[in-house]
Amino acid sequence: MGTSVGKSHRTASYPLLKGQKALVTGANSGIGRATAIGLGRVGADVVVNYVADRDSAEEVVREIETFGVRAYAHEADVSQEDQVAGMVSRMVEQFGTIDVLVANAGLQRDAAATDMTLAQWRKVLDVNLTGQFLCAREAIREFMRRGVVPEVSRSAGKIICMSSVHQIIPWSGHVNYAASKGGVLMMMETLAQELAPHKIRVNAVAPGAIRTPINRSAWDTPEAEADLLRLIPYRRVGDPEDIARAVAVLASDLLDYVVGATLYVDGGMTLFPGFATGG
Ligand code: NAD
Repeated sequence: MGTSVGKSHRTASYPLLKGQKALVTGANSGIGRATAIGLGRVGADVVVNYVADRDSAEEVVREIETFGVRAYAHEADVSQEDQVAGMVSRMVEQFGTIDVLVANAGLQRDAAATDMTLAQWRKVLDVNLTGQFLCAREAIREFMRRGVVPEVSRSAGKIICMSSVHQIIPWSGHVNYAASKGGVLMMMETLAQELAPHKIRVNAVAPGAIRTPINRSAWDTPEAEADLLRLIPYRRVGDPEDIARAVAVLASDLLDYVVGATLYVDGGMTLFPGFATGG
């Protein structure tokens, strides 16, 4: 073990994901957009999944293509089994396979528990949790069919679940969202345990507060931002690129021995900032 520390491994050279095929869900906005572009920047061919607004997905495709890699946009609702299966089988047809899945698509339907409708509850669980499972299942089937290709990667495939600090921080007024992300944590760890013997790495990235449309009201006025910064020891709101870089490294062979982990990218939000003074 010790002897290999520092030894350069061929696949650890840049670009990190050269020749790999990546699928990013919800890739025409916010974190997914930055991640799709970030994976293209480090050499991956990228499928840009979207469910609405084709034009913005095509813009992401054009930006990725400037790195000299391939990309295309694919419309699919990740909560629909047939649409997910169709998306992955088209990817195998067009790109030959899939090496990296970033299960990122997600949404909020906020309400106090007493007012939350069953439709709001179900919608969030369907997209944030079931959607990730359906995408993971299709990717895993292809990873297992293909196995390890040593020239491409040391593993047979990588799944990165986009979770949230709310996989462990309870969040009043968002019981559906917090439950979905808590579910993502246990889904991710169980899949990681089940699939590691097949050389498939399943991990999660858990963002804190990142400036995207999903949480605009939390940062788009100075008062709201000041309020939010109290929860962030590092005292800045994150950018989508903070997450994109974490995903690129986690998907690469640099972190080949990381299995079933959550990488919190949150400026310290999970460090119980309320206890920074007193207590
Ligand atoms: P966003 O609203 O900008 O992006 C969400 C994307 O998911 C959009 O492209 C949307 O169209 C897509 N989407 C929604 N339903 C879909 C469906 N059924 N099928 C396919 N795509 C669908 O928000 P974001 O902040 O970029 O969120 C991305 C992920 O990051 C989500 O899983 C979210 O829970 C997570 N996250 C965000 C933050 C944050 O502070 N922004 C923090 C923690 C976790």
